[in-house]
Parts: sequence; C-alpha cells; structure tokens
Amino acid sequence: TGASGDPLTAGLNPQQKEAVEYRGQSLLIVAGAGSGKTSVLTRRIAGLIASREAWPSQILAITFTNKAAAEMRERVAHLVGQAGEGMWISTFHSACVRILRREAEQFGFTKSFTIYDSADSRALLKRILKQLDADTLGFTVSQASGKISKLKNELTDVETYSRQVNAGDPQDVMFLEIFRQYTRELQRANAFDFDDLIAQTVFLFRAFPHVAATYQRRFRHILVDEYQDTNHAQYALIRELTRPVDPELVDELERGGQFVQTMRDGSGRIPGASLTVVGDSDQSIYAFRGADIRNIVEFERDFPNSKVILLEQNYRSTQNILDAANAVISNNFDRQAKNLFTTVGAGEKIVGFTGYTGHDEAQFVADEIASLHEAGTAYKDVAVFYRTNSQTRALEEIFIRSAIPYRVLGGTKFYERAEIKDAMAYLISVANPADPMALRRIMNVPKRGIGPATETALQRWADTNAPDAPTPLRDAMRNADQLGLGPKVTGAIRGLATLLDEVQATAATAPVHEILTALIEGSGLVEVLRASRDPQDEARAENIDELVAVTKEFQKNNPDGTLLDFLTEVTLVAAADDLDDTSGTVSLMTLHTAKGLEYEAVFLTGVEEDLLPHRMSASEPGGPAEERRLFYVGITRARQKLFLSLAMTRAQFGEVNVAMPSRYLQEIPVELIEWKQSPGMANSRGGTQPRALNARRDGAGGVGGFGGTPRASGGYGGGSYDRATAAAKTRPKTEWANRVTGTVRDNGDLELEAGDRISHVDFGEGRVMAVTGQGARRIAEVSFDSAGRKKLLIKVAPIEKI
Ligand code: ATP
Ligand code: MG
Repeated sequence: TGASGDPLTAGLNPQQKEAVEYRGQSLLIVAGAGSGKTSVLTRRIAGLIASREAWPSQILAITFTNKAAAEMRERVAHLVGQAGEGMWISTFHSACVRILRREAEQFGFTKSFTIYDSADSRALLKRILKQLDADTLGFTVSQASGKISKLKNELTDVETYSRQVNAGDPQDVMFLEIFRQYTRELQRANAFDFDDLIAQTVFLFRAFPHVAATYQRRFRHILVDEYQDTNHAQYALIRELTRPVDPELVDELERGGQFVQTMRDGSGRIPGASLTVVGDSDQSIYAFRGADIRNIVEFERDFPNSKVILLEQNYRSTQNILDAANAVISNNFDRQAKNLFTTVGAGEKIVGFTGYTGHDEAQFVADEIASLHEAGTAYKDVAVFYRTNSQTRALEEIFIRSAIPYRVLGGTKFYERAEIKDAMAYLISVANPADPMALRRIMNVPKRGIGPATETALQRWADTNAPDAPTPLRDAMRNADQLGLGPKVTGAIRGLATLLDEVQATAATAPVHEILTALIEGSGLVEVLRASRDPQDEARAENIDELVAVTKEFQKNNPDGTLLDFLTEVTLVAAADDLDDTSGTVSLMTLHTAKGLEYEAVFLTGVEEDLLPHRMSASEPGGPAEERRLFYVGITRARQKLFLSLAMTRAQFGEVNVAMPSRYLQEIPVELIEWKQSPGMANSRGGTQPRALNARRDGAGGVGGFGGTPRASGGYGGGSYDRATAAAKTRPKTEWANRVTGTVRDNGDLELEAGDRISHVDFGEGRVMAVTGQGARRIAEVSFDSAGRKKLLIKVAPIEKI
C-alpha cells in the first residue's frame, strides 16, 4: 500500500485508498471506530483540491464539533497548503448560521438575528408557561422545550402541528398554544433557537427555490462526518443541498451575472453535488437529541447508485482494547457484524479497578496518571471520561490535591457564567435591538432601581403603543417619561436607552472590543463589581476583563470581523464545545463529548449500574443498547492503555448509594482485564483484617474472574430485548458484584448502634456516633480516633465490631 508515491494516498490500505479516490455521485463509508473514516474524509477533500477538480469554495464539509472542524481544516491545510482557503468546514449549526445571516431578510428576520442558547429559550418558555398558567395542566419548562425541540428536529412547524392536534384534548391544545407563542416571540425578537438554525434553513430552501439553487450550485462536494448522529432536519438539509439544480433557475442566475459557468452534463443540466458520508452505527449516541440511525442504514435507498466502502482495519488501538470493544458491541441487536482488527499486537491488558468509594476511585485515577506521567506520557495524551457531569467533583478535588493539571471539557463554561452572560446581553442589545430577552437581562444589571413592576409597566406601554414596531421594548424605554414613574427610575431607564442608542450608532464600524468597553464603562458593570465587598465579585470583574481580552483577540484574528461575527462565533462555540487549550493538561469530559477523539491512555470511570447504563435510560426502549454504544465509544478512544473503574459506594446529592458493577463489564472477556482493588479491599496489610476480606485472594482466576461464561445461555427473545440484562438478572446481584470487586464483603445485618466501638481496615478504631437508614442502606457515622469523622455503609464497609 501507498507505494504510488502520491502523498495523498501514501500509507493508506486499499479500501481507504479506494474511498479517497472514488469519483461518483454518492459514497457511504461505514466502518468501526478508529478505522480512518475521518482521515479518509480529510484526504478526499485535499485530493479534490490538489487535483483541481474543485475550488475550495465548492466544498462543504460537516463535522460534529467545532473542535473537529478546526482539526480537519488544519489537516487539509497541511496537505494542500494555502490552496485550501475558502472551504466551508464546520458544524451543521455554523454552516446554517452563515447561510441564514445572508438570507434571513428573505423571510422576515434581519441578518443581525440573535441565537438563543438553551438557557435563553428556557427563559422564554418559562415566561410563556407562566402567562398561560400551563403548569395547571402539568407542563414544565423541560417538557415543553424537549417537545418543541423534537418537533423542530422533525421539521414540524406550528402550522403542521396544529393539524395534528386533538382539539378535544386540553393538553394538546395548551401545547399548541405554547408552541405558537414561543415561535411568535422568537420571530418578534429576531431570534432563532438552536434547532431553528437547521430547520429554518431547510424551510428557507423549500420556500425559495432560487435561494436553494444558489447553494446547490455553489457546493459541488458535500462531505459529512459522524453521519450516524444526524437527525431528520440535518438529513433533509443534505437532501436539499444535493438536489440537481433546476436549469431554469440557473439560467436566470447566470443571466443575472451572479456566477461563473458551472459544469453541466450532456443535456445542459447541472447534476446535484457529490455526497460522501462516513459513519458507524455502533457509535450513534445522540438519539435523545433526535439522531436517527436510519439515516445511515437507509443511505443506499435514499441515494440510489451509491457506492459503499467498508473499512475494518483499526489504526488506533491495541488488539486487547479492540477485543473488548468488539465483545461489548456484539451484544447489540440489529447491527451489521463487523470485527475490528489491528496489526499492532495485543498490547497491555485493560486495567480494572474497584474503589470502596468514588473518592478511592478518583485517587486511583490520579495515582495512575502520576505514574504514567513519570514514565513519559504527556498529560495531554491522557483523558478521563464519565457518564454525568456530577462525577467530576471527586476527580477535580483529588487532581488539585495531587497537582495534576487538568481541564474539564464542556463543563460549566466561561460563556455560561452570569456576569459573562450579562456583558454579552449588552452586546446583543446593541446588535439586535429587537431582542427583549437580552434587554430584560440588563435592565437592572448593574442595579438601577428598575424592578419587576417597572418592567411590567414598560412591557404594557410597548404592547399598547408599539406592538408591531421593530423594537417595542426599546421604544418604551425611550418614552419612559410617559409611564408616570418616579424621576429617579425614569432617569435610569432613559440613561440605559441612551447608552444603547449611542453605542449602536457606532456599532457598524467600531471594533468589537471598543463597543464592549463603551458599554461596560457607560453602564458601570465592572465598576460596581470592583466596588463590591463580596470577594466573588472581584473574580467576576476579572472574567469580564477576560471577555474584553477575547474580543481583542477576535479582532486581531478577524480584522474585518463585525460585532455580529463575534456573537455568532461565541454562541456556537459556547454551545457545542469550547476551544480550550489542552496542550499541557489531562482532559476530563463526558462520554458524549469524547466522540471522534483519541488518547494514549483513557480512564473510563463510574462503570456502574445507574451510571452506565444511566438510570434514566435503563428502562427506556433502546436505552440500554444506546448506553452500550456509549461505552463502546469510550473504550475505542484509547490507543495504548485503557482503565475501567468503578466504586462500591457513591455519594450523590448528599446520599451514599451502593453501586453495582455495570452489566457491560460482564461482556468483556475476563482474560482481557487485570483487576486492582482499593487498598481497603486488598489483603495487603497482614493480620488485622476482618475474615470477610480474606475470602478472595485464593489465587484462582484473578480478581474479577467469573466462574462461567457471563453470557446467558440459550437463545433470546428477539426484538429490543436486552440480552445482557437477562444475563444480569439470572445472577444474584451481590454475587456478581463480589466477583467484580473480588471481595466477598457482606457484613449481613451487623448490629451497630451509637456508642459501639469498631475497627476499620484503613481508618483504624473509632466510635459509632449515629446509625441511619434501613436494611442494605444503613449508614454509620463514625468518629475515628485518628482518621476523623466518616460515613460508612454498614453492609459492605470493611469494619468489625470490637
Ligand atoms: P472514529 O470512529 O473514532 O471517529 P475514525 O474512523 O474517524 O475513528 P480516524 O480518527 O480517522 O478514525 O483514525 C484513527 C487513527 O488512525 C488516527 O490516529 C489516524 O491518523 C490513524 N490512521 C488512519 N488510517 C491510517 C493508516 N492507513 N495508516 C496509519 N494510521 C492511520
Ligand atoms: Mg472519526
């Protein structure tokens, strides 16, 4: 392979090479994790440009995150140099914002529209639900927003939905009203929510064929990574973009002199753009956001005469890691069997670890990272994954104490901080004066004595006097003296209106950081924080300074960038993923964020029932299968080393819970994992151990080994029935738990009450202060003679009464 000397195909295997060089209308590349899908896509782009088959401006490549887009752009640039400038490599959302900014005026928006993030749209929904008293019918903001999002992802607009509504059902009728008002408020605010970005672009193309034709003609090659996680709206967008161009519309466009001549076929028609999609149905993990696995399964039907290429060789991981991944995913039904292999060899065993507490687990992770680092692994090549964000706290605590530099990807982000949202709301109020949400946010920030009653008075004025004006609330502010408010409040309102008007007048030409500075100084936003005695406020002031620095940086990188460009960039980056610099740090992230990435060493933590599969999805149809794919995604991120860890007990929301090993652990062949234990569990400290703790260590089978096969014998019922769940059910839970943890630890109904003295394997002797809870959840609060106060789960704690 790769002997051709062509740098674009050098080193590729024959299937990869074919995928790079294929020139047909539509191409589907399906392959497991790490088989080079993203690499092939990148080289196809480079190949099209290098061979001059396409101008960079004729290429639209879609990635799942902004980070992935940046990486792909960089790699293409590496392959073809400056020739690659002008390509659109972006997420669906970014591409659609670019299109909408250009075309919004076609359908009643302006190009300065605001993009509502999920917090914004929830705030809007909250107002609407309140006005409609919708809670009396049981509606919550989450519910309503979930349902609206789902409808938009299915391209159902209010009009269409109203035809499906059962007029006799008050719930249905109420929801229709919520949906209608929400849509109308967005329109009045000149705003789109995230789901709108895609859906409205599709509607735009469908409603305005000449607009569609413009983009159909422009993009001759469309390439989509992670196609398995596209939802219906995204699929529809791709369909629109790849349609053959209507010859009449094109003639019209060309007479208008808008375009250079486009390639036509023999009959004078312009064929649709070529489409390449790559994906892996085993990595579909966004069904909860409307991703539809059928898009990939039915690709060949949707795009006739398409070519399908399979890749099976994995270039990322060791064979042990792949064997584990293959074994786990083979438990899912309705999938095309594929088996990843590598030529790099078995590699090291997977390391399993069971901690007594989540704290132990975090300590294990930190210790292992420290030794990896000592042995030469850079921090940036290490990642720690978890199922839910709440798991980061224990990890962060230990990392800080162990001086391990880390960064949480996609955690509470800079742009979600209240003070940053305040400063951004000032910018938005200048960019899009029609947006009442931003205006309401800053109305009394910093405090100006404008309370809810004043706000209501302003709103009432707006509704009565300027309901159809482009900026009703701003008009109300300008006319504050008609409201009969006190002179101080009136002055404050007019002061804010004047500030916004003045800055707005310069916004078209002034650099973004000057606009921001003018707003901050004019409003006293930072000044007030600096004057405060709350130490948090100083940090808040620094954050706003940081935002000013961000705008300066933006202006440096985009000399022609406008305020709108800045807002667009920030909203999209803040929503999807951050561009945090992880060059010298360990990366912490959820399993969902990990998709597409790879690391030398991966720690997959909290491999427990209720976390993985997550409590919420375990009982949903398809839930356990989707969670298994998530586990598969996690495993396949690792190049050399994989650590799977869990804890026997986990504190969450102030409660200590007994955790059970994840059912998915059973699916990994025992010989692939080498188990380690919490110090409190291992027989490592001689004489004083309680008998129960000595029960393992008989040398047989290794810790965590199963006596027999973990799979349920016999056939299965079919359908969406989960085979592994059945296996787990046939085995008593404690027995299974003990096998994985390697310790037969069950204190039974050990009687314990306040005043008793106990001995603990790690903490030594102490006195029981209180006993709470029932049955298996009884907790003893113990004051140890030297180790301080601890809460212990009586049933499993390594303790004895003395
Ligand atoms: P995922 O499903 O996780 O998104 P993928 O199929 O997109 O994975 P890539 O990320 O493109 O896989 O490739 C995985 C790794 O293998 C990368 O480090 C890539 O550079 C490397 N790789 C891909 N093809 C080859 C090859 N032919 N020779 C050597 N390395 C390769
Ligand atoms: Mg990839």
